[in-house]
This record gives sequence, C-alpha cells and structure tokens, in this order.
Amino acid sequence: IHLPFDNSYARLPQHFFAPFQASEVPAPLLIALNTRLAEELGLDPDWLQSADGLAMLAGNRFPDGAQPIAQAYAGHQFGNFVPQLGDGRATLLGEVVDRHGKRRDIQLKGSGPTPFSRRGDGRAAIGPVLREYIVSEAMAAMGIPTTRALAAVSTGEPVYRETVLPGAVLTRVAASHIRVGTFQYFAARSDEEGVKTLADYVIQRHYPDAAEAENPYRALLQHVITAQALLVARWMGVGFIHGVMNTDNMAISGETIDYGPCAFLDTYDPAKVFSSIDQFGRYAYANQPGIAQWNLARLAEALLPLLHEDRDESVKLAQEMIAGFRSPFETAYMAVLRAKFGLKTEENEDGDLMQDFLDRMAQGGADFTRTFRALVAAAAGPEGDRDVRAEFIDPMLFETWAPRWRERLSRESGNGSGAAEIMRKANPALIPRNHRIEEAIQAAVNDADFTPFRRLNEALAKPFEDQPDYADLAIAPMPDERVTRTFC
Ligand code: AMP
Ligand code: MG
Ligand code: MG
Repeated sequence: IHLPFDNSYARLPQHFFAPFQASEVPAPLLIALNTRLAEELGLDPDWLQSADGLAMLAGNRFPDGAQPIAQAYAGHQFGNFVPQLGDGRATLLGEVVDRHGKRRDIQLKGSGPTPFSRRGDGRAAIGPVLREYIVSEAMAAMGIPTTRALAAVSTGEPVYRETVLPGAVLTRVAASHIRVGTFQYFAARSDEEGVKTLADYVIQRHYPDAAEAENPYRALLQHVITAQALLVARWMGVGFIHGVMNTDNMAISGETIDYGPCAFLDTYDPAKVFSSIDQFGRYAYANQPGIAQWNLARLAEALLPLLHEDRDESVKLAQEMIAGFRSPFETAYMAVLRAKFGLKTEENEDGDLMQDFLDRMAQGGADFTRTFRALVAAAAGPEGDRDVRAEFIDPMLFETWAPRWRERLSRESGNGSGAAEIMRKANPALIPRNHRIEEAIQAAVNDADFTPFRRLNEALAKPFEDQPDYADLAIAPMPDERVTRTFC
C-alpha cells in the first residue's frame, strides 16, 4: 500500500456522497509534483511519479485504500440558492494523516463526470488547473490558510470550452472539503439528523474543543466565524480577490478553497472586480468581509435547530453571533494592516492614518504590492522614499502623508527601528501577478511549454525575499499587459 488512506468521510451515511464513476483519460503526463507536500503527507514522491502513481493522479486507476467518492453539497451562487451542487468535476480519493498528525483530504479536480455533474463534462482545462496550482501554493508560501496543490497532470484529452483546450487534473489537498454549502445541503432537505451528523463530524475533525462547550454547535459556529474573519483579513492584506465567494466555495476549516477566476490587485482599487462572471461586483475586493458575513449567516441558518431548543432563541443567538463577525474581523484586519505599516503597538489614530494611505494609493494609481514593499525602505527615513514615491502618479500624495507616519513610528519602541523587519514579513515582494499567470498558461496551452509555470512557482515559494533573479516577476503590468478579466 503506497498511500496510508483512512477515509472517515466515506464512513458517514450513504446520502452524504455519491460513488465514483470510472472514466479513463488516454495519455496522462505529469506537469508538476509538489514533492515537499508529498513528504509532509507521508507519500512517496517516487511512487507518485511511477505508472501507478500517475494513473491515480489522472483518475484512471486507484491504489488499495482509496475510496473515491463525490461529496454532496448545495450552495448560494451569487445569492441564489441551489439545493444540489456537489462535486461535479472532483473526486475525493480519501484522507491521510500527515506528519504533523493532521488529517488531510486528497482530491482530484477535473477527473471526470460524477452523479453531480449535471450538464458539465466533469473535466478541467489546463489553464484553471495551472492557475489554482500557482495561486494556492503562493498563498501557502505567504502563510495564508489554503488548500494545497500536490500535482498537476495533463490528460491528453481535449476539453471543450469556448475553444478546444488541453485537459488536466489537479490533485488538491485540504484540511477537508466541507463547505458552508455542505450544511445547507442537509438543511434544505429538512434533514436535521444529517445536519447534526455533519456538525458532530466537523467538530471532531476541525474544532475538537467545541465538544467540551455547553452547546458544542454554538462553539462550532463561533469557530467558523473566527476562522473566516482571520482568513478574509489575510486576503485583504495581500490584495487577493477570491472572485466566487459562493457559499459552496467557503470551507468550514477556514482555508481558502476553489480558486476560480481569482486575482490579485495590481493598482489599488477597493471596488476592483476581475471575474468575468461577477457582473454586478458582488465579490469585489472590499465587499469580501461583508460577503463572508453573509455566507456565515447562511451557515447559522442551517445550524438553527442545533443552537437552541427554542426556535426564537436560536434565531436571536444566531443573529448576535453573525453580527459579532465584525469584531474578530476588525481585530485581525487591523493587525494585518499595522504590520504592513511597521506598527507593533496600537494607537487610536492608527486606523485613520492607514486608511488615509490607502485612499491616497487609490487616488494615485499606486500598485498595491509594490507600494507596500517600497514602504519598507521608507521606514528608515526620507532617504528611502524614492521607490514608494515612484508608485504614485503624484508623489505629493505620499509626501504629504509620510511625516504623520514617521511621527507615529517614532513612538514605537526603538524609534521604529524594528519597523522594516516587521514590514518585510508583512509586505510580499512577489505575488502571482495576473499577467504572469496568464503568460504561464498561454505558454502551456499554445506550446506545451511549462518553463514559465515552473519559474513562477519557484519564485513564489519565497514571496518575502527580494530575489534579483526574479525581479521581472515583481514588475507591475504595462498597460497592454494588464489582465482586466479572469475566467474559470
Ligand atoms: P465552482 O465553479 O468550482 O464553484 O463549481 C460550482 C459547481 O459547478 C460545483 O458543483 C461543480 O462541481 C460544478 N462544476 C463546475 N464545472 C464543472 C464541470 N466542468 N463539470 C461538471 N460540474 C462542474
Ligand atoms: Mg476518471
Ligand atoms: Mg466550487
């Protein structure tokens, strides 16, 4: 046995999932294997690259111990409830307990039709597979909770979208793939037993201390609220826009999940939307905290029967808890921002000072990542201002703000001498720029050339280091390189 599978989800009641449907792809080829992650999972990288390993990563053939299933879930898509979605193009192979004792799902995305495929083909095109690989690994390198990419395999099979594209399968690793929409699936069927079974399972798997609480389900809801507040605060800190924050794309574990038309801000604009399917800007950058809260309210609704015996009391409790999302979010967001400005201590005016800078960035067309990274050098004094000034169309926007910041830094211990160090760990030098991702995808699709993809991954493994060899990847897009729309 090459994979020490222990499949707890497959031991849940039958109606939690659908069995796997076999479908072979003709010519699997390994594009990428994350050997570090494989080792962390206790998997043998050599076996994963063998014919049997490749057959598994392509969804063709499974080793002993795998128990492929498609998970059932529902979800609000752009605000509209769909009572049945489910894994339409994904297969959960099973779970392993990693080197740190953490249970992790291993899932194939794009491995063929399932009973939840509806009119979809169950396949993935190579572009979205490479995008998810790049972005999820970059998020992990930045220390942001996320699902991981274990492998990418091309299938040798065409996939029909607007054009004909090469097919691929992503092997994804997650703390679990349980979503807000998983709870909604049972709640929508008035299956209170299902909701309870799922809640008990989640408590045991993700939030074991909730079991000790007076009401474990309230504790569970509170854990998820807090985890999501922290997660979205971290997204905001690196200019990440998820793009499709539907309730089926929000993980109960607090990991970022389902990278579709996601993108990072180039120039700072709180109303920014990249996703081609987000017509009305529901999932715009600055809307994300509010949307997270809205999604959590849907989770609370699904949990209502478990929060209190009395329905009215349940509703009251749920409302209070959901309103309370703001508190951990604001705390986490302020902590994220303070680090970006090199502040260790807290002062009442900090929020104003930082918001003023963001407003000026928006006004000055400043690049989010480059400006904050350049601010590191400026922490030493005005002699380090050159790069940050250059990010503003009108450098006065920065110059008239900077004295206030410097004065604030002078009130930090050691006159703010430790600021640069804090900032260097909070302001990445490198993010997966949309135009660089697009470039890597185009080379793969048009020329089967994976060099740009590999180079981008290599560089993004050290996002907080200045890497002269990858300086080109840190440059903001030229006007003609700018990606304005992303697709899933
Ligand atoms: P997503 O866009 O990943 O959030 O997916 C939303 C829903 O559509 C999920 O139930 C997916 O399984 C399903 N879906 C997306 N793409 C496909 C596809 N190519 N084939 C079948 N189902 C799909
Ligand atoms: Mg298959
Ligand atoms: Mg999804």
